[in-house]
Amino acid sequence: MKKRMRTWLTPMPRNLREAFQQETTRQNLRRLIGISIALFLIALVLLVLEDSFLAIGPVIFAFLIASLLQIPLFFVTFRYRKKIKRVLIQAQTLLYLFSIILFGIHLTLRQQTLPGVAPLFLTAILAMAAILYLDAQTGTLVFAFAGSLFILWYPSFQLDATVVFITRVTMSVIVFLTWLLNRMIYRMKVQAFQLEGALKEKDRVLDEMNQRDPLTGLDNHTSSFRKLYEEAAKAKRIGYPISLILCDIDDFKTINDTFGHPAGDHVLLRISQTIRATLRTTDIVGRYGGEEFILILPDTDANEARVLSERLRLAMAKTTYDVDVHVTMSGGVSQYDAGQTIDEWVRTTDRRLYEAKHEGKDRFESGLPRQQDI
Ligand code: GH3
Ligand code: MG
Ligand code: MG
Repeated sequence: MKKRMRTWLTPMPRNLREAFQQETTRQNLRRLIGISIALFLIALVLLVLEDSFLAIGPVIFAFLIASLLQIPLFFVTFRYRKKIKRVLIQAQTLLYLFSIILFGIHLTLRQQTLPGVAPLFLTAILAMAAILYLDAQTGTLVFAFAGSLFILWYPSFQLDATVVFITRVTMSVIVFLTWLLNRMIYRMKVQAFQLEGALKEKDRVLDEMNQRDPLTGLDNHTSSFRKLYEEAAKAKRIGYPISLILCDIDDFKTINDTFGHPAGDHVLLRISQTIRATLRTTDIVGRYGGEEFILILPDTDANEARVLSERLRLAMAKTTYDVDVHVTMSGGVSQYDAGQTIDEWVRTTDRRLYEAKHEGKDRFESGLPRQQDI
């Protein structure tokens, strides 16, 4: 019972509540600006049309003055809604809604004799119910206020006891129904917001999945290439060097053939962890192909990349596996030359990888003279 009450009062999960309140506050304030301007204009027309000014004119006049204060205030609140305390926004909203109710009831009761004026109050509360997102507490307060005020005030304008009774009953039912309508609209808004949130999260997960290689968690081929273009463009624009390493596990087929595919997968995963741990967090590691990796090294020149490749070779030698195997890797290393296209850069690096394999594997070929070796 207590739990049901709590979910009825705040049907939004805690993690979405803040964002939901921000969105409904923004939408409510925008609508309140529209409502307050429209009502101001309607009141202005009523004032002009009013022939027995003394009877009703002062009420319209008071409402116009109140609106003149409220409208700019709503604009200010809308502009600074993220800085203003929510309880203050709520108080301002309530105050304005109460003033509309008061105004609406007064007009309705005063002008009962005029045909077509009676539904004015109904129109006001129906519009409020349909247009504004009021949470359970606020909504209940607003409609309870509207209903009670009408019921208590009504006999002052109507002497016939039967009419008073019937009107009180019908009004209570109608106010209750408008309150119900408002609750339904609010709940639908809550559900739509939750669905939207879930969809956005799914989109994000899908996006993430599209970029990742499922086995190693590294960037996949497509994502690696996109990042290669982005990083090269950034390096060119800002003016720092960028290097690339393409590497390929040596004799990987033998590992698969000897220990089986699952063991091969395990080796791939361990190697990807070694590469990730050897590089800086700003470096990008991707799975280029089956047992090939691409390493994008921003702010790194050819010599630094070669030092790094040697560090990687040593880290590979120290990596342990679930199966008794010693795994080495070969690679090509090259720095981006602004005169090259990205394709040419990749082809140069790939050619060096091929040379490293050709020269006996377990080595990285950077094209730099041997004496600079560390
Ligand atoms: P080299 O030293 O010349 O590179 O020889 P290699 O045996 O590593 O090269 P080769 O291209 O002949 O074999 C690569 C093997 O990698 C073949 C393929 O079955 C295996 N492979 C590719 N992707 C995966 C994978 O996801 N899991 C496993 N277990 N094996 C894979
Ligand atoms: Mg290969
Ligand atoms: Mg290989």
